[in-house]
Amino acid sequence: MSNHRIIEVCLPARKADILSYRLPDAAFVPLRGTRVVVPIRNRIATGIVWQTHAQEPEFVLKDVIKVLSEEPVLSEHSLNFLEWMAAYYLQPLGIALHEALPAGILNAENLDQTAVSENSKKTRRKKADEPVEAQQSEQFISTLNPEQLTAFNAISAAISRKKFQPFLLHGVTGSGKTEVYLRAFAECLSYGRQAIMMVPEIAMIPQIIRRFQDRFGDSVAVIHSGLPQKKRVRNWIDIKKGRVKVVIGTRSAIFAPVQDLGLIVVDEEHDPSYKQGERFFYNARDMAVVVAKMTNIPVVLGSATPSLTSYFHAMNRHYTLLEMPYRVESRPLPEVQIVDRKPKTDGALSEKRGSDKTPYWLGRELHAAIAGNLERKEQTLLFLNRRGFATYIFCEDCGHVFRCKKCDISLSMHKINEDDQSLSANLATPLQKSDGRLVCHYCGWHIPAMPVCPVCHSHNIKAAGYGTQRLFEDISGLFPTARLARLDRDEAASPKKLENILKAFSKNEIDILIGTQMTTKGHDFPNLTLVGVVWADISLNFPEFNAAERTFQLLSQVAGRAGRGEKPGRVIIQTMLPNSQAIQCAMRHDYKGFYENEIRNRRLLDYPPFSRLIKLTLDEKDSIIAETYIRQLAAWIREQIIINKIKTEVIGPSPCPIARLKDAFRWQLLFKASGISAQRHTGELLTKYCEKELAKAKFLRIDVDPISFL
Ligand code: ADP
Ligand code: ZN
Ligand code: ZN
Repeated sequence: MSNHRIIEVCLPARKADILSYRLPDAAFVPLRGTRVVVPIRNRIATGIVWQTHAQEPEFVLKDVIKVLSEEPVLSEHSLNFLEWMAAYYLQPLGIALHEALPAGILNAENLDQTAVSENSKKTRRKKADEPVEAQQSEQFISTLNPEQLTAFNAISAAISRKKFQPFLLHGVTGSGKTEVYLRAFAECLSYGRQAIMMVPEIAMIPQIIRRFQDRFGDSVAVIHSGLPQKKRVRNWIDIKKGRVKVVIGTRSAIFAPVQDLGLIVVDEEHDPSYKQGERFFYNARDMAVVVAKMTNIPVVLGSATPSLTSYFHAMNRHYTLLEMPYRVESRPLPEVQIVDRKPKTDGALSEKRGSDKTPYWLGRELHAAIAGNLERKEQTLLFLNRRGFATYIFCEDCGHVFRCKKCDISLSMHKINEDDQSLSANLATPLQKSDGRLVCHYCGWHIPAMPVCPVCHSHNIKAAGYGTQRLFEDISGLFPTARLARLDRDEAASPKKLENILKAFSKNEIDILIGTQMTTKGHDFPNLTLVGVVWADISLNFPEFNAAERTFQLLSQVAGRAGRGEKPGRVIIQTMLPNSQAIQCAMRHDYKGFYENEIRNRRLLDYPPFSRLIKLTLDEKDSIIAETYIRQLAAWIREQIIINKIKTEVIGPSPCPIARLKDAFRWQLLFKASGISAQRHTGELLTKYCEKELAKAKFLRIDVDPISFL
């Protein structure tokens, strides 16, 4: 008799969820979560054992080639979590698995051999190199203030009970949230358990890791996608073996192979970076709450500007609200001034004509404040959420706007020769031949900046609008002796470059830092006393239901950078919408006011948290196929929703705000479900439809709980 067994194997990155194989020698049966090498079509691949005794199917199965080390790489808990994740986000299990396993783990020869010593050596060396910095950050705060103490006690009680409890820690910038996290981690470690600290961006890791290493030494490891593969694998193993207790990372840290988890902290929980916007759309903040629930532990979501949804849960007592409304040592919140930059018909003109040297984007108030700050040798941050030099290029004779060949997007101008200061900053700047390139911010397609209009052959080509690059140039013209730096995705392309710029700024080697939202997060610069928001309205004008929330958060966060040291801070917000709720509330540091107004709007329009969304996007090169397909799908699903009495509203189909991207026409269909079960039923219908037409459906993308609608 044959001595075999049937196992089910999940192959990472494959859409076919799970495949069955024959295990020829059933004397040794691998556990769930073990790696096996299997044949697939005409090649071999490594997969994860998902089920160890499946039914023998009627057709002939292929044999497992070999079992890679006896120990499973994924725990039972991880497997369950991935199943949940695939089901909730309506994605194949193989794709979920691919997200969770760092490249390198799957085929690593021997996962047991790597030693921990490497990590510890690094830490020690680093401390010897940077004695001054280490000392600065190593201040141990002996007494927590009353709000910190209340927060800490609540979290620590939950840790000792080892029960699921979600906390929302609402603490203004500089209120000492990180100190509370550190204490909570120490508490968790005292029970011998591991803990995960999540931050939204790689850029925030260096300074947070310093504070955690000062407290917990070698017991800290980092997980994020920017690590070199070898290091990532080593850290992964150290965590799995329990050699490391504290895991710090970005959203992928939620997949860290912790064995005995006691606490998860999600810092800046409102941050959209927790949402992965490609391959697999998931929100790591939401997943942290699910992991906490599955493993019965507390989870702390912290923010100065909580997401509307999290605050709503706190108001409804699903989350425990902890509040820290004051900065430590009673440091004041910065004074915020709104400067109305609406063009007043005559005023704007006279300003344009009169002030030959002042760039038109720079109001009098901000100009004077920057000059004052330079004089006092204090630092300034200029914030503009748009990179590049000019935002569009047009022909003044026929009105032609240069657009991306593949996207429905106007091209932005980026200068190549940064030292060239020949461009003066008038409203519309004449284009020179050598100016640089026109770049599509969505697909990267670019052409040399052309001095001729392709439509009417006029040479009257102008650049309009401004980005961080132009700000930089204008400011260096105005303040030639000031030390400037730019911080945006062009300038700080790698984490290393980014860290260097931030380091230089914190060492006072830069007077004025000009940057996009990269500059707004978590950093603590004691000598930064002026924050100028050059144009606050950019994100307010996005066609998205959460545009006001995003703007309020962005403004509050960037404003929170000012005056975190001994010296008080000042913020100047330039806007053309001075009366908008988001800007007014940010000025008054009034989170509750903003929340109450915005939650009313959401209720009125039935947007989250009062409904749950699914977004379906279609990308297709042929415009007729695209429209026909999405209309058919919409008609089918509308009918199904009625037949099945699902409480979901179908909105659309409509062309996406960016109607063409990378050569494809884009349509979207939005589903507004009344609650979680309607959302699930809608998702099931969508999956059913896509499976029915799998061949066609490859250009569909399903996004559960979407936060972006462009
Ligand atoms: P947040 O994370 O809320 O922005 P931090 O935890 O970074 O705030 O605290 C801001 C600053 O105040 C840090 O330099 C920190 O060391 C210091 N700090 C925190 N708690 C206290 C305290 N109880 N007493 C004195 N200083 C504190
Ligand atoms: Zn023209
Ligand atoms: Zn493009």
